[in-house]
Amino acid sequence: MGSADVSLRVLHVATEMAPLVKVGGLGDVVGSLPKALKKLGADVRLLLPAYRNLLEDLRSRRCVRSLGKIHEALDWRVYEATVYEFKVNDIPLYLLDQEELYSDDVYPQELNCASILPFALLNMASLELPRLIDWAPQLIHAHDWPTALIPILLRWHRHYGRLPRNYKTILTIHNLAHQGILPREVLALIGLVDEAFSIDGVEFYGSVNLLKGGIIAADVVTTVSPRYSWEIQTPSFGMGLNGVIQSQKPKLYGILNGLDYEYWDPSNDQFLPALYSKDDLSGKEKCRRVLSKRCGFENTGPIAAFIGRLVEQKGVNILLAVLDELAKRGFSLVVLGSGHEHFEKALEEAAVRLKNRLSVHIGHFEELAHLIYAGSDMLLMPSLFEPCGLSQLIAMRYGTVPVARAVGGLADTIIDADGNQEGYGFLFSNPIPDELLKCAERAMAAWKEKERWHSIVLRGMSADFSWDRSARAYLELYQQLLSG
Ligand code: ADP
Repeated sequence: MGSADVSLRVLHVATEMAPLVKVGGLGDVVGSLPKALKKLGADVRLLLPAYRNLLEDLRSRRCVRSLGKIHEALDWRVYEATVYEFKVNDIPLYLLDQEELYSDDVYPQELNCASILPFALLNMASLELPRLIDWAPQLIHAHDWPTALIPILLRWHRHYGRLPRNYKTILTIHNLAHQGILPREVLALIGLVDEAFSIDGVEFYGSVNLLKGGIIAADVVTTVSPRYSWEIQTPSFGMGLNGVIQSQKPKLYGILNGLDYEYWDPSNDQFLPALYSKDDLSGKEKCRRVLSKRCGFENTGPIAAFIGRLVEQKGVNILLAVLDELAKRGFSLVVLGSGHEHFEKALEEAAVRLKNRLSVHIGHFEELAHLIYAGSDMLLMPSLFEPCGLSQLIAMRYGTVPVARAVGGLADTIIDADGNQEGYGFLFSNPIPDELLKCAERAMAAWKEKERWHSIVLRGMSADFSWDRSARAYLELYQQLLSG
């Protein structure tokens, strides 16, 4: 598969797009995938809400233009919204502006019949857009529950469900933990037919589940790693939707996310005290010294890091349970993250207890994250589930060896160095402290063999997890879908 037929037209509809607006991994994907698809020749465009500050900023720089207005029947009235156009890397980005509905908040504190309206309007607008801009997609690509309503509207909406359509829909699941669950009343408010509220529709234990309905109604569903696509068919990972997902198996695909190799590049990283590449790792040694000094480490053993949200999903409990043992074995440990208060507190307490052996940084610090990726020897990822995971890809790019649980995207991207000559990481199966500890011990044994460690580091740095690779897989899927 080389490049796209120039006529392949895709509209991505999303609530985030890095770097303009980002809350999590979805934002990274929507920021990178369209760029990579365009490079392959696709005519790709995006539709997002016009968040207040974003629109004001673009307006003040005079780089948006109004394309006109659209009208949607929603919540027993007609909403008028303006569509603006802005170009990002030469890709048209359409921004939907509706003063009453869009602010700077991407997601509400609580989802209900009022707070769903901005999402409903965005989803409807994607179907109205072709009338305004004299361009029609062959494919609409939705992301997670906030845009899962698009395939639902096309199947069960009073108006949109009746229109002839000559395009397909694809829904990507970035994280099954968020499903968009609402009271039943929302159906009438959005204009969905009663028939939608069934076991083969949006109904979910007496409520409406947007992600469920989207999974059923979309032509194709993807997850952000192959392994996650089958994990979510099991009760342990399915978050109540495993049966539904299993029933949709023939149209389910897993495509691994890529990493932005321009932004994450140790040979060209504005945050690092020294640059390096796989041809010359001396800069990494310098970064290691700077990090070690900053953290006040006294051990001469390997530096193991943890960077991520301090939430259950990331296995923080498991990490906390092994910190003392790891320090005892000679590891220096650095943790960067923010999240649940009880995790933050427990880590800070451990840092007092393990002075000069554990350095804890609570908050979001971009520069420090880069220094940690560059200056550490290992990255610990004891995740309970991981749809794809970005941190392990960044670590490998920076010559830092992942020590991770073999789950989701971690299992898809890491090859164990003890189990395979080509390996460049260390994996364990069960999310329990003892297994993490044993896995870290295996990594430490390899670290002590300097030559072996060097080749493990180089293999990780040479692995290809670029967006180009992922975009080709999406393109192939698009083409398959259109020809089917
Ligand atoms: P998730 O999307 O589940 O949070 P990922 O591994 O996919 O996890 O992506 C996390 C991204 O956020 C990585 O780029 C990581 O470096 C970054 N990150 C997480 N926590 C912090 C933090 N406290 N400071 C700086 N960067 C962080």
